[in-house]
Amino acid sequence: MPGSWTWTDAAIFIAVFTGIRIAVIWMATQIFTAILPEGDACPVCNAETYALERQGIWKALGPRFRRSFCIGCGWDGVMRRSDAWMAMLKERRVPKAPSAKRR
Ligand SMILES: [Zn+2]
Repeated sequence: MPGSWTWTDAAIFIAVFTGIRIAVIWMATQIFTAILPEGDACPVCNAETYALERQGIWKALGPRFRRSFCIGCGWDGVMRRSDAWMAMLKERRVPKAPSAKRR
């Protein structure tokens, strides 16, 4: 019968479009993390930046990302920690900021 549909068709439709949506979100995340500057040098003037305490929504980003502020030019943004830094964090060789002990 033309124009009819079955639950199998609906399941395939939902599975395909859910898969496409997940792939797009995953790719967007990959691209977003790739364009973030890595390390702690300012992307504008290459001076050393200072990490800001994460507040509110910034905490959801996790330890991989840090909010930075540049004393030299006033740049303010999110930077990506390098793989070496994350490895050091896992081995707990990076000292925690004093502000983190308050909570
Ligand atoms: Zn700067």
